[in-house]
Amino acid sequence: MARAHSTDGSNSGFSGYDLDLDKAIDLIQKSGARLVGLQAPEGLKRATPALARRIEEKTGAKVIISGDPCFGACDVDMQLCQEVDLMLHLGHAPIGDGPDNVIFLEARMIEDLRDVVEKAAIVLKAKRVGVTTTIQHVHKLDQALEALKAHGIQGVVGPAGDRVKYPGQVLGCCYCTARALDVEEYLFIGTGQFHPLGIALATGKRVMIADPVTGEVSEIDTDPMLRRRFGAITRARDAKRFAILVSKKPGQRRMALAERLKALGEFRGRQMLLVYLDNIEPDRLLNLGAEAAVSTACPRVALDDAAKYKIPILTPPEFEVLIGEREWERYEFDEIE
Ligand code: SF4
Repeated sequence: MARAHSTDGSNSGFSGYDLDLDKAIDLIQKSGARLVGLQAPEGLKRATPALARRIEEKTGAKVIISGDPCFGACDVDMQLCQEVDLMLHLGHAPIGDGPDNVIFLEARMIEDLRDVVEKAAIVLKAKRVGVTTTIQHVHKLDQALEALKAHGIQGVVGPAGDRVKYPGQVLGCCYCTARALDVEEYLFIGTGQFHPLGIALATGKRVMIADPVTGEVSEIDTDPMLRRRFGAITRARDAKRFAILVSKKPGQRRMALAERLKALGEFRGRQMLLVYLDNIEPDRLLNLGAEAAVSTACPRVALDDAAKYKIPILTPPEFEVLIGEREWERYEFDEIE
């Protein structure tokens, strides 16, 4: 894979990432595309001007950069897709079927996993451990398995699924590769707390985090999150009017689920509004008069961004707890099928 650099000779726009730009340029040339869309998540957006210039120089096609936020492969800019011959979506692997004119160009972090996994091996308790990671590190999972083996631990990875392209890969909204394994402990390799929290809540098992960027190893604690979620359900308990948020983003749109929740809520005497929107932000809910909301979109809206909202935002399983359709005892993490 060619390491992408900006045309001014610096590689700051791509720092830490490999992008197979040669492959993308080849595909653009072969397709004969004259107008190319370029979409990237915020972490890679600074790279888009140099990439656009490189594509224009090499292919003669004109490039339009998507200026809207991009949160994942679930969030292909459909309007731009209709404007261009070919769309380059950076940083994510595809989720299920999408428009035919989209090329997903994965961004792979260059950090080695060996050292941090060896550090984690010392504090793992089981001799057979489920290993998971995000798209940025999935190409180096073999390194992780070898490092565990050197410490007498068998690392196992779950198979890819409809929503995840690679064995062992997880998304914030999909932990099928972890759930498929019969293990007592997981190792998550990556940054941030959201994915390991999701694994712990989806499986009910111990999860250790090995962060290849900081070199830190830690254990995830689900209690603070569960306390916050219980608090949100309690705050929403007396709400009479709920907004059920339905995302327009192709990989987050769950209208059938929203309609089921609407029927359930109305049966229990609540007023339920179906609200269709692209980016879910606090200001969008201000004038609806809702006292609480249920987000059927990306689970991060309710679980990660809750503090931004004046009203409680619940996930669909949390709403079911509120109306008595589900027990709290075994917390159900909201995954998208
Ligand atoms: S729905 Fe959320 S967690 Fe899932 S891929 Fe999209 S942004 Fe990521």
